[in-house]
Amino acid sequence: MEQYQLINIVYLKRDLRLHDNPSIVKAEELGLPYLIIYIFEPSLRLLPTWDIRHWRFIYGSLLNLDKNLNKYGHSIKVFWGEALEIFQYLLTIFKVKCVVSHQEVGVDATFKRDIRLRRFFKKNHVTWIEIPWDGIQRGKNSRDGWKERVERWFSEKTLKIYPKANLAVNLKENHFELPYAIKSELSYYPNNFQTPGEEEALKVLKSFCERRLEKYLKSISKPYESQVYSSRLSPYLAYGNISARKVYQSVQASNTSSLSSRNAFISRLFWRSHFIQKFESLPEYEFESINAAFKPWPFEVNHELIQAWAEGETGVDLVDAVMKCLKATGWINFRMRAMVVSFFCHALKQPWEFAANTLAKLFLDFEPGIHYPQIQMQAGVTGYNTIRIYDPEKQLRDNDRFYRFCKMWLPTKRPKPIVNWRKNLEEAKVILWRIKKSELAKRESERLLQLQK
Ligand SMILES: Cc1cc2nc3c(=O)[nH]c(=O)nc-3n(C[C@H](O)[C@H](O)[C@H](O)COP(=O)(O)OP(=O)(O)OC[C@H]3O[C@@H](n4cnc5c(N)ncnc54)[C@H](O)[C@@H]3O)c2cc1C
Repeated sequence: MEQYQLINIVYLKRDLRLHDNPSIVKAEELGLPYLIIYIFEPSLRLLPTWDIRHWRFIYGSLLNLDKNLNKYGHSIKVFWGEALEIFQYLLTIFKVKCVVSHQEVGVDATFKRDIRLRRFFKKNHVTWIEIPWDGIQRGKNSRDGWKERVERWFSEKTLKIYPKANLAVNLKENHFELPYAIKSELSYYPNNFQTPGEEEALKVLKSFCERRLEKYLKSISKPYESQVYSSRLSPYLAYGNISARKVYQSVQASNTSSLSSRNAFISRLFWRSHFIQKFESLPEYEFESINAAFKPWPFEVNHELIQAWAEGETGVDLVDAVMKCLKATGWINFRMRAMVVSFFCHALKQPWEFAANTLAKLFLDFEPGIHYPQIQMQAGVTGYNTIRIYDPEKQLRDNDRFYRFCKMWLPTKRPKPIVNWRKNLEEAKVILWRIKKSELAKRESERLLQLQK
């Protein structure tokens, strides 16, 4: 009988896969019947970083996961509502012993949601088992033993899962179904974005290991070539369509002749964990320049400039091509991401927070833990990183010499640059260095480095 059946719940978040999913493994080990759920929370649509493209990717990933789970007699129940009200609802139908999920490193809004949930579970005698992932530890400041922990995690065997059909829980009625209008909006998936889902993630990994890895390092900074030769695994890692250790182990086992490509790629997987840990320890990254000396940076908000940058209408070719490409496809390589942030902060003199929001919306792979620290690093406001100011003409010469990328995205008739960006970049250099050399900036850098040791 469904009424008051004693069950566990697997609460999916950014771990939308079957294989190597520790939450599902844990639910199997616990041995009670379990319900697998995903919650689309309407309030998250109000965040300045939200975009329908993220939810479409999630929805597509859920459809793929559901198909795979169906083979084992399980399915995903998708809800529309705030997490707290969904769990309140589920507790009126079932007696819930444990909720199992991965330990999300998200933005402030999802962190606060999790605090509310924890309180609710405690009050209702539900145990919430949150499983750390990719060697990242909750709230940890010190980096003692960090590298060993991540290495251990990456080298551990991936988990094979064969869910038992007799542990599947059925939900006959769902009072919090996705509304029809939302469902049809999510079901439409524009084909210029990477296809979501675990199956696709595995295909992308395979083609990377077998064919594309060879030219990875050579192409990494080039916006045209990197579309093919970069791994393109970022959205799959961001939504957990694939685990980082599965990627790590497959790339290590590949027989590429380019060891430098392999090493460069593996380093980036470690950087990923490193950045997410950094964000977990210093969540202030989301809202303010972490180095206090850079807070009063002389920005003057100009919405026209911000709009022109976001639409790819600054009149600077490579910058505009990148922004138009992002709008259409949701992906661009690292160097170009860094360049458009630098252009925004240093040439247009706009506050990094606006760039952070606009790019988070545009990136299909928006991963808060990588995004915010990288934005601040490229804006030059951390104090302890090298200040990098990107000259878009030099980038064009070095990385799109034959104008192949720009030609893909720009009309032939081009507007004139909207600012004197060369002059502005020179000025920004002087200001940033002046702040960096101040006593406050040095003290702050020292404090931040100590925190991350
Ligand atoms: C301003 C700025 C914002 C960024 N925001 C994001 C973001 O929201 N989400 C995101 O996944 N990446 C972000 N990156 C990092 C990087 O640009 C992307 O991970 C990469 O371009 C994704 O393509 P790929 O999977 O083919 O990368 P690959 O080069 O094949 O790398 C494989 C994986 O390693 C990780 N990775 C790669 N480069 C870095 C790096 N420098 N630091 C930390 N991890 C890295 C990513 O998970 C990536 O998917 C940002 C970079 C900058 C400069």
